[in-house]
Amino acid sequence: MKEFIYSIIELLYPRYCLACSKIMVRNEEVLCLNCLLNLSKTLNIYDRDNELVDKVSIYFPIKNAYSFLNYQNGSLSRGLIHQFKYKENINIGKYLTSLFIKQIEKTIWIEEIDIIIPVPLHWARLFKRGYNQSEIIARQIGKYFNIPVRTNILKRKKYNPTQLYKNKERRWENVKNIFLIKKIEEIKGKHILLIDDIITTGATMNACIKTMSQIENIKISVLCLAQRN
Ligand SMILES: [Zn+2]
Repeated sequence: MKEFIYSIIELLYPRYCLACSKIMVRNEEVLCLNCLLNLSKTLNIYDRDNELVDKVSIYFPIKNAYSFLNYQNGSLSRGLIHQFKYKENINIGKYLTSLFIKQIEKTIWIEEIDIIIPVPLHWARLFKRGYNQSEIIARQIGKYFNIPVRTNILKRKKYNPTQLYKNKERRWENVKNIFLIKKIEEIKGKHILLIDDIITTGATMNACIKTMSQIENIKISVLCLAQRN
């Protein structure tokens, strides 16, 4: 009987995969199984010396750096991240983060983290977009692992146009010295986990780390949902 009712509900209220728009069957959520299997995962969480560590250690040696998805042009992950970042599709971000958490919980380094800090948007950008996608990821991870998330420590002082269409040199120039730290005392000697949605050239994350590295005895780790090589 229960089965029958489920089938009727599925017929009346079909749910569609957010990537391929096919009707999903029971137990499928947000993405159909096929799309889920086709997500290009970096799997760098199983390699402490992965290349993302080098990419974000330009100014300061990072303890750990991991990403969940590969963000290549035309890829399924790129489409999903774009929906999350620019189309207000928060559910996609939360869903991808929940998949990422399943990887993170198999590691031990997360237990060393004292504070999570999402890469901030400038207040004007935040006002325009209505949410900071990095904060959404950070809050979900913080809640799951019971680690405090702070958004009043790292600030973005410059409102710069979107990085999306800039070439490499201009990206690095663009983000130089755009961050500042408040409440320095509160993060002295702490292990900070910086979280961003996407790392492409690494310019923004490195600028962020450069600013944070001025703090006495600080340790820094990095997570991002997607990474472009
Ligand atoms: Zn699908």
